Amino acid sequence: MNIILFGPPGAGKGTQAKRLEKNRGLIQLSTGDMLRAAVAAGTEYGKKAKEIMERGELVPDEVVINIISDRLDEDDVKNAPGVIFDGFPRTVAQAEALDKMLAEKGMKLDAVIVLDVDDEALVERITGRFTCAKCGKGYHEKFERPKVEGVCDECGSTEFTRRADDNEETVRQRLEAYHAQTAPLIEYYEKAGIVKKVDGMAAIDEVTKQIEEVLDQLA
Ligand code: AMP
Repeated sequence: MNIILFGPPGAGKGTQAKRLEKNRGLIQLSTGDMLRAAVAAGTEYGKKAKEIMERGELVPDEVVINIISDRLDEDDVKNAPGVIFDGFPRTVAQAEALDKMLAEKGMKLDAVIVLDVDDEALVERITGRFTCAKCGKGYHEKFERPKVEGVCDECGSTEFTRRADDNEETVRQRLEAYHAQTAPLIEYYEKAGIVKKVDGMAAIDEVTKQIEEVLDQLA
């Protein structure tokens, strides 16, 4: 089962993708995570992507298309029961390239799950978030603090990080890019008849429940 988790930055795609990995063995393919890894490693395309990401703009289509295509050929992905695209595709050109590469690899998309959220909530959600530096568990200053202050619930680490692009100015630019370039994809996938909407404003567990219901119907 291959799905896209779709929605603006801060909609909860990453949080929900991690839960689906745990519950269903699906593999999260986050182009944002892959680009951040390339930036941290200082690779050639990491260097080019860094400034674009810090401005809150989209990196060129061919960069992310190649990253995803290569990742789909790796053994863990090939042997998994399916993948969750998170943050990809973000433009019509990326969606068309995805259709083509999936057909070539004998795969198909089963659903595009759209997390519906109010723009106003997103800035607060994004600027308050942080992650465990060791295991990557996500937290939020207001909505999901560690049970013991300063200690990760999952792995006990006391180091946390914040994304360089999670400041208010960049968030507003990322939202603009979403509305201009990414939101039109909903119509693209509506034509394919595979869009399923869930209430992304609900509590995290409730959103998971709604997504699980969609996936149960597909199975
Ligand atoms: P994300 O972690 O999905 O919020 O992505 C962080 C940043 O990485 C975005 O603001 C873009 O600069 C870049 N990025 C991630 N995925 C894509 C994509 N599919 N197309 C273009 N840029 C992307």
